[in-house]
Amino acid sequence: MNKISIVVPCYNEQESLPLFYKEITKVAEEMKKVKFEFIFINDGSKDNTLNSLRDLSKKDKRVRYVSFSRNFGKEAAIYAGLKNSTGDFVAVMDADLQDPPALLPEMYQAIVDEGYDSVATRRVTRKGEPPIRSFFARLFYKLINKISNADIVDGARDYRLMTRQMVEAILSMQEYNRFSKGIFGWVGFNTKWIAYENVERVAGETKWSFWKLFLYSIEGIVAFSTLPLTIASILGIIFCFIAFVMILFIIIRTLIFGDPTSGWPSLVCIIFLVSGVQLFCMGIIGQYLSKTYLETKKRPIYIVKETEKD
Ligand code: UDP
Ligand code: MG
Repeated sequence: MNKISIVVPCYNEQESLPLFYKEITKVAEEMKKVKFEFIFINDGSKDNTLNSLRDLSKKDKRVRYVSFSRNFGKEAAIYAGLKNSTGDFVAVMDADLQDPPALLPEMYQAIVDEGYDSVATRRVTRKGEPPIRSFFARLFYKLINKISNADIVDGARDYRLMTRQMVEAILSMQEYNRFSKGIFGWVGFNTKWIAYENVERVAGETKWSFWKLFLYSIEGIVAFSTLPLTIASILGIIFCFIAFVMILFIIIRTLIFGDPTSGWPSLVCIIFLVSGVQLFCMGIIGQYLSKTYLETKKRPIYIVKETEKD
């Protein structure tokens, strides 16, 4: 009998958890031919999430949980879930029911009957999201697909079902700066995409502010593309060239017309422009350097404080 592990990252989800549990057990009952395991990751919640998980795991032997010592972020939670999973297939799912558990039977069929290694989901609408957020999200997907070789699908959710083989491949990527959307694409394997309309979260609030999303998108770019570094060098070359032409021009002009002292405003403009470009490029290099710095420390991706076995 096949076993599916459901990995659920939870951060302050006390309101959503009971609803999620009800929904997922309903789906589990429909899928009679498979065994289930639910792994909840408590990502340093400040509300009652941990208590609910303790109760659930006492009531239902299929429920397991891993509780972090603090908030490590959703990426770390996904990693911990995959690492602790024992199923032949593993699904990653949000606790807020934005990833409809009802799609699971269809996803499972696609792997077992159609031979895919993974079934992923993407939302085709962004209903219920601020327009400005949608606009920048679209822009980000266009950009990252142009500049990186990881295939990152617009509107892709982290919600997907994978074979054990693919899970092992993902776990073998030990990087500290984890950008799951890129990692899923990077490891390859045959993926089937299921599209669905955006669902709003059932309870509680989103944990992503615009600023957090912006920083996350930079993380994604730095993790999966080195093009910004190339752009920095090309800008440097262009500016050197311009400077060279200007030097020639000034030398020749001085030789012919002498040296009337004028033109300091243009000089100031040039200094500002060039130092701006320099700082910008140093910033790009700094982004990569800081990520490299963190990687070389080899810090653990997460720290566990408690599990259902304690
Ligand atoms: N989440 C988490 N750690 C965090 C932030 C979020 O584990 O630091 C979980 C959260 O509990 C939820 C999922 O990640 O199950 C998606 O978060 P959210 O719904 O806030 O994001 P959105 O759907 O708005 O993009
Ligand atoms: Mg959500």
